[in-house]
Amino acid sequence: MVQDLAKLRDDLKERGIDVLRVVYADVLGIPRSKDILVSQLDKAAENGPAFSQGVWMTTTGGDFHDANDVASDGLQDFVTKIVANTISPLAWEPGVAYVIGDAFNPDGSPNLMSPRSVLKKVIEGYNKLGLQPVVGPELEFYIANRTAEGGFERALTQTGRVYMTGALVDPDGDVLHLLRMLDRLNIGAFASNHEFSPSQYEINLWHSEALDAADRTFFFKTAVKDIVSLRGKHATFLGKPWSDEGGSGFHLHLSVTSMDGTNLMHNGNSTLSKVAHQMIAGITKHAAGLTALTNPTVNAFKRLGPDTLAPYRSNWGYDNRSCMVRVPPERGQGTRLEVRVGDGAANPYLVIAGVLAAALDGIVNDLPCPDDAVGMAYDNEGAAILPETFSQALDALDSDDALRTQLSQELINVFMTLKRDEVARYEASTEDPMTRDVTQWEITEYFEAY
Ligand code: GLU
Ligand code: MG
Ligand code: MG
Repeated sequence: MVQDLAKLRDDLKERGIDVLRVVYADVLGIPRSKDILVSQLDKAAENGPAFSQGVWMTTTGGDFHDANDVASDGLQDFVTKIVANTISPLAWEPGVAYVIGDAFNPDGSPNLMSPRSVLKKVIEGYNKLGLQPVVGPELEFYIANRTAEGGFERALTQTGRVYMTGALVDPDGDVLHLLRMLDRLNIGAFASNHEFSPSQYEINLWHSEALDAADRTFFFKTAVKDIVSLRGKHATFLGKPWSDEGGSGFHLHLSVTSMDGTNLMHNGNSTLSKVAHQMIAGITKHAAGLTALTNPTVNAFKRLGPDTLAPYRSNWGYDNRSCMVRVPPERGQGTRLEVRVGDGAANPYLVIAGVLAAALDGIVNDLPCPDDAVGMAYDNEGAAILPETFSQALDALDSDDALRTQLSQELINVFMTLKRDEVARYEASTEDPMTRDVTQWEITEYFEAY
Protein backbone atom coordinates (compact mmCIF):
# COMPACT_ATOMS: atom_id res chain seq x y z
CA MET A 1 0.00 0.00 0.00
CA VAL A 2 2.87 2.36 0.80
CA GLN A 3 3.90 4.38 -2.25
CA ASP A 4 7.09 6.34 -2.68
CA LEU A 5 5.36 9.70 -2.70
CA ALA A 6 8.56 11.69 -2.13
CA LYS A 7 9.97 10.28 -5.37
CA LEU A 8 6.69 10.97 -7.16
CA ARG A 9 6.76 14.54 -5.80
CA ASP A 10 10.24 15.10 -7.25
CA ASP A 11 9.35 13.53 -10.62
CA LEU A 12 6.26 15.71 -10.95
CA LYS A 13 8.14 18.86 -9.95
CA GLU A 14 10.70 18.12 -12.64
CA ARG A 15 7.90 17.88 -15.20
CA GLY A 16 6.56 21.31 -14.17
CA ILE A 17 3.53 19.88 -12.37
CA ASP A 18 2.56 21.65 -9.15
CA VAL A 19 -0.94 20.21 -8.64
CA LEU A 20 -1.95 16.55 -8.80
CA ARG A 21 -5.67 15.95 -9.36
CA VAL A 22 -6.48 12.55 -7.86
CA VAL A 23 -9.69 11.31 -9.43
CA TYR A 24 -11.92 8.47 -8.35
CA ALA A 25 -15.00 7.11 -10.21
CA ASP A 26 -17.99 6.79 -7.90
CA VAL A 27 -20.70 4.18 -8.44
CA LEU A 28 -22.70 6.54 -10.64
CA GLY A 29 -19.64 7.21 -12.80
CA ILE A 30 -19.19 10.75 -11.54
CA PRO A 31 -15.55 11.81 -11.16
CA ARG A 32 -14.76 12.72 -7.55
CA SER A 33 -11.44 14.44 -7.11
CA LYS A 34 -9.01 16.11 -4.80
CA ASP A 35 -6.36 18.60 -5.92
CA ILE A 36 -3.15 18.04 -3.96
CA LEU A 37 -0.20 20.43 -4.00
CA VAL A 38 2.75 18.46 -5.31
CA SER A 39 5.05 20.27 -2.86
CA GLN A 40 3.00 18.72 -0.02
CA LEU A 41 2.23 15.37 -1.63
CA ASP A 42 4.29 13.11 0.63
CA LYS A 43 3.11 14.86 3.81
CA ALA A 44 -0.53 15.36 2.75
CA ALA A 45 -1.11 11.86 1.45
CA GLU A 46 1.16 9.68 3.54
CA ASN A 47 -1.11 6.62 3.39
CA GLY A 48 -2.58 7.49 0.00
CA PRO A 49 -5.03 10.33 -0.77
CA ALA A 50 -8.14 9.80 1.38
CA PHE A 51 -11.82 10.24 0.43
CA SER A 52 -14.89 10.11 2.64
CA GLN A 53 -17.19 7.12 2.10
CA GLY A 54 -19.86 9.78 1.55
CA VAL A 55 -18.98 9.68 -2.17
CA TRP A 56 -20.84 6.37 -2.36
CA MET A 57 -24.01 7.69 -0.93
CA THR A 58 -25.24 10.68 -2.85
CA THR A 59 -27.64 10.49 -5.80
CA THR A 60 -27.28 12.80 -8.80
CA GLY A 61 -30.17 14.68 -7.17
CA GLY A 62 -28.18 15.18 -3.95
CA ASP A 63 -30.10 12.73 -1.72
CA PHE A 64 -28.16 10.65 0.78
CA HIS A 65 -28.38 6.86 1.30
CA ASP A 66 -26.20 4.51 3.29
CA ALA A 67 -26.77 1.18 1.52
CA ASN A 68 -24.02 -0.73 3.33
CA ASP A 69 -24.42 0.96 6.71
CA VAL A 70 -20.93 2.47 6.65
CA ALA A 71 -22.11 5.25 8.97
CA SER A 72 -22.25 2.71 11.81
CA ASP A 73 -18.42 2.57 11.61
CA GLY A 74 -18.33 6.35 11.97
CA LEU A 75 -18.16 7.02 8.22
CA GLN A 76 -14.47 6.25 7.93
CA ASP A 77 -12.33 7.41 5.05
CA PHE A 78 -11.16 5.08 2.35
CA VAL A 79 -7.71 5.59 0.93
CA THR A 80 -6.58 5.61 -2.67
CA LYS A 81 -3.40 4.40 -4.26
CA ILE A 82 -2.10 6.56 -7.09
CA VAL A 83 -2.15 4.58 -10.34
CA ALA A 84 1.10 5.95 -11.72
CA ASN A 85 0.59 4.88 -15.33
CA THR A 86 -2.53 7.08 -15.50
CA ILE A 87 -0.69 10.33 -14.65
CA SER A 88 -1.39 12.80 -17.43
CA PRO A 89 -0.66 16.54 -17.53
CA LEU A 90 -3.78 18.46 -18.62
CA ALA A 91 -3.09 20.44 -21.79
CA TRP A 92 -5.84 22.93 -20.92
CA GLU A 93 -4.83 23.48 -17.26
CA PRO A 94 -1.08 24.12 -17.22
CA GLY A 95 0.70 22.75 -14.15
CA VAL A 96 -2.10 20.28 -13.33
CA ALA A 97 -1.80 16.53 -13.84
CA TYR A 98 -4.68 14.06 -13.69
CA VAL A 99 -4.28 10.68 -12.03
CA ILE A 100 -6.64 7.88 -11.08
CA GLY A 101 -6.86 6.84 -7.44
CA ASP A 102 -7.59 3.17 -6.75
CA ALA A 103 -9.77 2.62 -3.65
CA PHE A 104 -8.71 0.53 -0.67
CA ASN A 105 -10.16 -0.02 2.80
CA PRO A 106 -8.19 1.38 5.74
CA ASP A 107 -6.82 -2.17 6.34
CA GLY A 108 -5.37 -2.28 2.80
CA SER A 109 -7.90 -4.68 1.25
CA PRO A 110 -9.54 -3.68 -2.07
CA ASN A 111 -12.73 -1.70 -1.52
CA LEU A 112 -15.50 -3.63 -3.25
CA MET A 113 -17.88 -0.68 -3.36
CA SER A 114 -15.48 0.82 -5.86
CA PRO A 115 -16.26 0.25 -9.57
CA ARG A 116 -12.57 0.03 -10.51
CA SER A 117 -11.91 -2.64 -7.84
CA VAL A 118 -14.89 -4.62 -9.09
CA LEU A 119 -13.65 -4.50 -12.68
CA LYS A 120 -10.24 -5.76 -11.52
CA LYS A 121 -11.97 -8.64 -9.74
CA VAL A 122 -13.86 -9.64 -12.90
CA ILE A 123 -10.68 -9.45 -15.01
CA GLU A 124 -8.95 -11.76 -12.51
CA GLY A 125 -11.66 -14.33 -13.28
CA TYR A 126 -10.50 -14.29 -16.93
CA ASN A 127 -6.81 -14.33 -16.05
CA LYS A 128 -7.34 -17.47 -13.94
CA LEU A 129 -8.51 -19.19 -17.14
CA GLY A 130 -5.49 -17.90 -19.08
CA LEU A 131 -7.61 -15.28 -20.85
CA GLN A 132 -7.03 -11.56 -21.24
CA PRO A 133 -10.07 -9.40 -22.11
CA VAL A 134 -9.45 -6.60 -24.62
CA VAL A 135 -11.82 -3.66 -25.04
CA GLY A 136 -12.26 -0.90 -27.61
CA PRO A 137 -14.63 1.92 -26.55
CA GLU A 138 -16.65 4.01 -28.99
CA LEU A 139 -18.68 6.88 -27.56
CA GLU A 140 -21.12 9.30 -29.13
CA PHE A 141 -22.06 12.65 -27.57
CA TYR A 142 -23.76 15.95 -28.30
CA ILE A 143 -22.34 19.43 -27.97
CA ALA A 144 -24.95 21.94 -26.81
CA ASN A 145 -25.06 25.67 -26.20
CA ARG A 146 -26.37 26.91 -22.89
CA THR A 147 -29.47 29.07 -23.23
CA ALA A 148 -30.14 32.27 -21.28
CA GLU A 149 -32.92 30.40 -19.42
CA GLY A 150 -30.45 27.82 -18.10
CA GLY A 151 -31.39 25.16 -20.66
CA PHE A 152 -29.51 23.61 -23.58
CA GLU A 153 -29.87 23.80 -27.35
CA ARG A 154 -28.05 22.23 -30.27
CA ALA A 155 -25.94 24.55 -32.40
CA LEU A 156 -26.90 22.76 -35.62
CA THR A 157 -30.53 22.54 -36.54
CA GLN A 158 -30.56 21.02 -40.02
CA THR A 159 -31.72 17.43 -40.30
CA GLY A 160 -30.01 15.04 -42.69
CA ARG A 161 -26.77 15.59 -44.60
CA VAL A 162 -24.69 15.77 -41.44
CA TYR A 163 -23.40 12.20 -41.02
CA MET A 164 -19.66 11.89 -41.68
CA THR A 165 -19.26 15.35 -43.18
CA GLY A 166 -16.47 17.81 -42.40
CA ALA A 167 -15.98 21.38 -41.20
CA LEU A 168 -19.53 22.50 -42.01
CA VAL A 169 -20.87 20.42 -39.13
CA ASP A 170 -18.29 21.72 -36.63
CA PRO A 171 -18.72 25.45 -37.27
CA ASP A 172 -16.77 26.63 -34.19
CA GLY A 173 -14.09 23.96 -34.52
CA ASP A 174 -15.05 22.46 -31.15
CA VAL A 175 -14.53 18.86 -32.16
CA LEU A 176 -11.29 19.54 -34.01
CA HIS A 177 -10.04 21.31 -30.88
CA LEU A 178 -11.16 18.35 -28.76
CA LEU A 179 -9.33 15.86 -30.94
CA ARG A 180 -6.09 17.86 -30.75
CA MET A 181 -6.34 18.27 -26.97
CA LEU A 182 -7.04 14.57 -26.50
CA ASP A 183 -3.97 13.74 -28.57
CA ARG A 184 -1.88 15.45 -25.90
CA LEU A 185 -3.32 13.18 -23.20
CA ASN A 186 -2.08 9.90 -24.59
CA ILE A 187 -5.43 8.15 -24.10
CA GLY A 188 -5.54 6.63 -27.55
CA ALA A 189 -8.06 8.92 -29.26
CA PHE A 190 -7.57 8.59 -33.00
CA ALA A 191 -10.56 9.84 -35.02
CA SER A 192 -13.70 11.93 -34.84
CA ASN A 193 -16.76 12.20 -37.04
CA HIS A 194 -20.15 13.83 -37.10
CA GLU A 195 -22.92 11.35 -36.31
CA PHE A 196 -26.46 11.00 -37.73
CA SER A 197 -28.10 13.80 -35.73
CA PRO A 198 -27.24 17.52 -35.73
CA SER A 199 -24.51 18.45 -33.21
CA GLN A 200 -23.87 14.77 -32.43
CA TYR A 201 -20.28 13.54 -32.70
CA GLU A 202 -18.23 10.41 -32.11
CA ILE A 203 -14.59 10.07 -31.08
CA ASN A 204 -12.89 6.69 -31.32
CA LEU A 205 -10.31 5.32 -28.89
CA TRP A 206 -7.89 2.48 -29.60
CA HIS A 207 -8.54 -0.89 -27.96
CA SER A 208 -6.40 -2.21 -25.11
CA GLU A 209 -6.50 -4.50 -22.08
CA ALA A 210 -9.85 -4.01 -20.29
CA LEU A 211 -8.72 -2.10 -17.18
CA ASP A 212 -6.60 0.29 -19.21
CA ALA A 213 -9.50 0.80 -21.64
CA ALA A 214 -11.84 1.60 -18.74
CA ASP A 215 -9.36 4.09 -17.25
CA ARG A 216 -8.98 5.80 -20.62
CA THR A 217 -12.72 5.93 -21.26
CA PHE A 218 -13.42 7.43 -17.86
CA PHE A 219 -10.71 10.07 -18.39
CA PHE A 220 -11.95 10.68 -21.95
CA LYS A 221 -15.45 11.58 -20.75
CA THR A 222 -14.12 13.89 -18.03
CA ALA A 223 -11.74 15.54 -20.48
CA VAL A 224 -14.38 16.07 -23.19
CA LYS A 225 -16.76 17.71 -20.73
CA ASP A 226 -14.01 19.92 -19.27
CA ILE A 227 -12.56 21.01 -22.62
CA VAL A 228 -15.96 21.83 -24.11
CA SER A 229 -17.06 23.66 -20.99
CA LEU A 230 -13.96 25.89 -21.15
CA ARG A 231 -15.34 27.03 -24.52
CA GLY A 232 -18.62 28.03 -22.85
CA LYS A 233 -20.54 25.02 -24.21
CA HIS A 234 -21.67 21.72 -22.83
CA ALA A 235 -20.93 18.14 -23.91
CA THR A 236 -23.36 15.42 -22.91
CA PHE A 237 -23.01 11.65 -23.19
CA LEU A 238 -26.63 11.17 -22.07
CA GLY A 239 -28.25 8.31 -24.00
CA LYS A 240 -31.28 10.22 -25.29
CA PRO A 241 -30.93 13.96 -24.67
CA TRP A 242 -33.54 15.08 -27.23
CA SER A 243 -36.96 13.58 -27.92
CA ASP A 244 -36.75 14.35 -31.63
CA GLU A 245 -33.20 13.14 -32.37
CA GLY A 246 -31.23 9.89 -32.20
CA GLY A 247 -29.56 8.71 -29.03
CA SER A 248 -25.86 8.43 -28.25
CA GLY A 249 -24.35 4.99 -27.83
CA PHE A 250 -21.32 3.69 -25.94
CA HIS A 251 -20.43 0.72 -28.12
CA LEU A 252 -18.00 -1.73 -26.62
CA HIS A 253 -15.72 -3.79 -28.86
CA LEU A 254 -14.70 -6.90 -27.00
CA SER A 255 -12.37 -9.83 -27.54
CA VAL A 256 -10.28 -12.23 -25.49
CA THR A 257 -6.68 -13.14 -26.13
CA SER A 258 -4.32 -15.66 -24.57
CA MET A 259 -1.97 -14.12 -22.00
CA ASP A 260 0.58 -13.66 -24.80
CA GLY A 261 -1.88 -11.60 -26.85
CA THR A 262 -3.15 -14.08 -29.46
CA ASN A 263 -6.78 -13.41 -30.42
CA LEU A 264 -8.94 -16.40 -29.40
CA MET A 265 -12.20 -15.31 -31.03
CA HIS A 266 -11.78 -17.22 -34.33
CA ASN A 267 -10.82 -20.69 -35.53
CA GLY A 268 -8.01 -19.57 -37.84
CA ASN A 269 -10.55 -19.03 -40.61
CA SER A 270 -13.73 -16.97 -40.98
CA THR A 271 -15.67 -18.86 -38.30
CA LEU A 272 -16.08 -17.73 -34.69
CA SER A 273 -14.44 -19.84 -31.99
CA LYS A 274 -16.18 -21.71 -29.22
CA VAL A 275 -15.19 -19.09 -26.64
CA ALA A 276 -16.65 -16.30 -28.81
CA HIS A 277 -19.96 -18.19 -29.01
CA GLN A 278 -19.91 -18.76 -25.24
CA MET A 279 -19.35 -15.05 -24.65
CA ILE A 280 -22.29 -14.14 -26.90
CA ALA A 281 -24.38 -16.72 -25.02
CA GLY A 282 -23.52 -15.12 -21.67
CA ILE A 283 -24.14 -11.56 -22.83
CA THR A 284 -27.51 -12.34 -24.42
CA LYS A 285 -28.59 -14.53 -21.48
CA HIS A 286 -27.87 -11.78 -18.92
CA ALA A 287 -29.04 -8.96 -21.19
CA ALA A 288 -31.95 -7.82 -19.04
CA GLY A 289 -29.94 -7.37 -15.82
CA LEU A 290 -26.93 -6.11 -17.74
CA THR A 291 -28.87 -3.17 -19.15
CA ALA A 292 -29.21 -1.77 -15.61
CA LEU A 293 -25.42 -1.28 -15.72
CA THR A 294 -24.97 -0.37 -19.39
CA ASN A 295 -28.03 1.92 -19.46
CA PRO A 296 -28.27 3.20 -15.89
CA THR A 297 -30.78 6.05 -16.16
CA VAL A 298 -34.52 6.35 -16.74
CA ASN A 299 -33.54 8.29 -19.85
CA ALA A 300 -31.49 5.45 -21.39
CA PHE A 301 -34.50 3.27 -22.18
CA LYS A 302 -35.97 5.97 -24.43
CA ARG A 303 -33.00 5.43 -26.75
CA LEU A 304 -33.55 1.68 -27.20
CA GLY A 305 -36.16 0.68 -29.72
CA PRO A 306 -36.88 -0.57 -33.23
CA ASP A 307 -35.29 1.29 -36.16
CA THR A 308 -32.93 3.41 -34.07
CA LEU A 309 -29.54 1.71 -34.67
CA ALA A 310 -29.70 1.04 -30.95
CA PRO A 311 -30.81 -2.49 -30.07
CA TYR A 312 -34.29 -3.61 -29.06
CA ARG A 313 -33.80 -7.34 -28.41
CA SER A 314 -31.14 -9.50 -26.76
CA ASN A 315 -29.89 -10.88 -30.06
CA TRP A 316 -26.71 -11.07 -32.14
CA GLY A 317 -25.75 -11.14 -35.81
CA TYR A 318 -22.89 -10.97 -38.30
CA ASP A 319 -22.17 -7.33 -39.18
CA ASN A 320 -25.74 -6.55 -38.15
CA ARG A 321 -26.27 -3.10 -36.59
CA SER A 322 -29.86 -3.88 -35.61
CA CYS A 323 -28.65 -6.40 -32.99
CA MET A 324 -27.47 -6.02 -29.42
CA VAL A 325 -24.24 -7.84 -30.26
CA ARG A 326 -22.76 -7.25 -33.71
CA VAL A 327 -19.87 -9.36 -34.99
CA PRO A 328 -17.81 -6.97 -37.13
CA PRO A 329 -16.46 -8.49 -40.37
CA GLU A 330 -12.71 -8.36 -39.52
CA ARG A 331 -11.03 -11.67 -38.70
CA GLY A 332 -7.61 -12.68 -37.40
CA GLN A 333 -6.34 -10.42 -34.58
CA GLY A 334 -9.29 -8.07 -35.22
CA THR A 335 -11.99 -10.69 -34.53
CA ARG A 336 -14.30 -9.24 -31.90
CA LEU A 337 -17.83 -8.56 -30.70
CA GLU A 338 -19.41 -5.11 -30.67
CA VAL A 339 -21.88 -4.77 -27.78
CA ARG A 340 -24.15 -1.90 -28.90
CA VAL A 341 -26.59 -1.56 -26.04
CA GLY A 342 -24.84 0.86 -23.64
CA ASP A 343 -24.89 4.63 -23.63
CA GLY A 344 -22.27 7.12 -22.45
CA ALA A 345 -24.10 8.11 -19.26
CA ALA A 346 -23.00 4.74 -17.93
CA ASN A 347 -19.99 4.28 -15.68
CA PRO A 348 -17.25 2.84 -17.99
CA TYR A 349 -15.94 0.59 -15.20
CA LEU A 350 -19.38 -0.91 -14.64
CA VAL A 351 -20.23 -1.26 -18.33
CA ILE A 352 -17.01 -3.16 -18.93
CA ALA A 353 -17.26 -5.16 -15.68
CA GLY A 354 -20.91 -6.06 -16.39
CA VAL A 355 -20.36 -7.14 -20.00
CA LEU A 356 -17.24 -9.11 -19.03
CA ALA A 357 -19.04 -10.78 -16.11
CA ALA A 358 -21.94 -11.83 -18.35
CA ALA A 359 -19.55 -13.17 -21.01
CA LEU A 360 -17.50 -15.01 -18.37
CA ASP A 361 -20.63 -16.79 -17.16
CA GLY A 362 -21.08 -18.00 -20.75
CA ILE A 363 -17.50 -19.31 -20.82
CA VAL A 364 -17.43 -20.93 -17.38
CA ASN A 365 -20.83 -22.62 -17.74
CA ASP A 366 -20.47 -23.38 -21.45
CA LEU A 367 -23.83 -21.72 -22.15
CA PRO A 368 -25.48 -22.57 -25.48
CA CYS A 369 -25.33 -19.77 -28.03
CA PRO A 370 -28.65 -18.76 -29.63
CA ASP A 371 -28.92 -18.65 -33.45
CA ASP A 372 -27.69 -15.47 -35.09
CA ALA A 373 -30.30 -13.02 -36.40
CA VAL A 374 -30.37 -12.30 -40.11
CA GLY A 375 -31.59 -9.06 -41.68
CA MET A 376 -33.35 -6.28 -39.76
CA ALA A 377 -33.55 -7.94 -36.35
CA TYR A 378 -35.95 -5.63 -34.51
CA ASP A 379 -38.86 -8.03 -35.09
CA ASN A 380 -36.76 -11.16 -34.58
CA GLU A 381 -39.31 -12.81 -32.25
CA GLY A 382 -36.98 -15.61 -31.16
CA ALA A 383 -35.11 -13.16 -28.94
CA ALA A 384 -36.46 -11.42 -25.83
CA ILE A 385 -37.18 -7.68 -25.91
CA LEU A 386 -34.75 -5.72 -23.73
CA PRO A 387 -36.24 -4.01 -20.65
CA GLU A 388 -38.45 -1.09 -21.65
CA THR A 389 -37.91 0.88 -18.47
CA PHE A 390 -35.05 1.35 -16.04
CA SER A 391 -37.23 -0.06 -13.29
CA GLN A 392 -37.59 -3.37 -15.19
CA ALA A 393 -33.83 -3.47 -15.73
CA LEU A 394 -33.17 -2.93 -12.01
CA ASP A 395 -35.58 -5.77 -11.14
CA ALA A 396 -33.71 -8.01 -13.58
CA LEU A 397 -30.31 -7.12 -12.08
CA ASP A 398 -31.68 -7.62 -8.58
CA SER A 399 -32.62 -11.19 -9.41
CA ASP A 400 -29.52 -12.02 -11.48
CA ASP A 401 -27.44 -13.85 -8.89
CA ALA A 402 -24.61 -14.65 -11.30
CA LEU A 403 -24.07 -10.98 -12.14
CA ARG A 404 -24.44 -9.88 -8.52
CA THR A 405 -21.83 -12.31 -7.21
CA GLN A 406 -19.35 -11.86 -10.06
CA LEU A 407 -19.44 -8.10 -9.51
CA SER A 408 -19.86 -7.54 -5.77
CA GLN A 409 -22.82 -7.52 -3.41
CA GLU A 410 -21.55 -4.32 -1.76
CA LEU A 411 -21.40 -2.40 -5.01
CA ILE A 412 -24.76 -3.73 -6.24
CA ASN A 413 -26.34 -2.68 -2.91
CA VAL A 414 -25.14 0.89 -3.40
CA PHE A 415 -26.10 0.91 -7.07
CA MET A 416 -29.60 -0.47 -6.41
CA THR A 417 -30.27 1.94 -3.57
CA LEU A 418 -29.19 5.06 -5.43
CA LYS A 419 -30.92 4.02 -8.63
CA ARG A 420 -34.23 2.98 -7.01
CA ASP A 421 -34.27 6.44 -5.43
CA GLU A 422 -33.70 7.95 -8.89
CA VAL A 423 -36.63 6.01 -10.39
CA ALA A 424 -38.92 6.98 -7.50
CA ARG A 425 -38.09 10.66 -7.92
CA TYR A 426 -38.63 10.44 -11.68
CA GLU A 427 -41.97 8.71 -11.25
CA ALA A 428 -43.10 11.33 -8.74
CA SER A 429 -42.08 14.11 -11.14
CA THR A 430 -44.07 13.13 -14.20
CA GLU A 431 -47.71 12.41 -14.94
CA ASP A 432 -46.76 9.61 -17.31
CA PRO A 433 -43.70 7.59 -16.21
CA MET A 434 -44.05 5.54 -19.43
CA THR A 435 -43.65 8.55 -21.73
CA ARG A 436 -40.99 8.16 -24.43
CA ASP A 437 -40.45 11.93 -24.50
CA VAL A 438 -37.49 13.39 -22.64
CA THR A 439 -38.84 15.25 -19.59
CA GLN A 440 -37.57 18.36 -17.84
CA TRP A 441 -36.74 16.17 -14.83
CA GLU A 442 -34.22 14.22 -16.93
CA ILE A 443 -32.64 17.41 -18.24
CA THR A 444 -32.23 18.74 -14.69
CA GLU A 445 -31.09 15.44 -13.19
CA TYR A 446 -28.73 14.22 -15.89
CA PHE A 447 -27.61 16.85 -18.38
CA GLU A 448 -24.85 18.39 -16.26
CA ALA A 449 -23.83 15.17 -14.57
CA TYR A 450 -23.50 13.15 -17.77
N1 GLU B 1 -26.47 6.41 -32.37
C1 GLU B 1 -26.65 4.98 -32.45
C2 GLU B 1 -26.83 4.42 -31.01
O1 GLU B 1 -27.54 4.98 -30.29
C3 GLU B 1 -25.50 4.28 -33.14
C4 GLU B 1 -25.16 4.79 -34.51
C5 GLU B 1 -23.91 4.12 -35.06
O2 GLU B 1 -23.92 2.90 -35.30
O3 GLU B 1 -22.89 4.80 -35.18
O4 GLU B 1 -26.27 3.47 -30.59
MG1 MG C 1 -21.48 5.84 -34.09
MG1 MG D 1 -20.10 1.26 -33.37
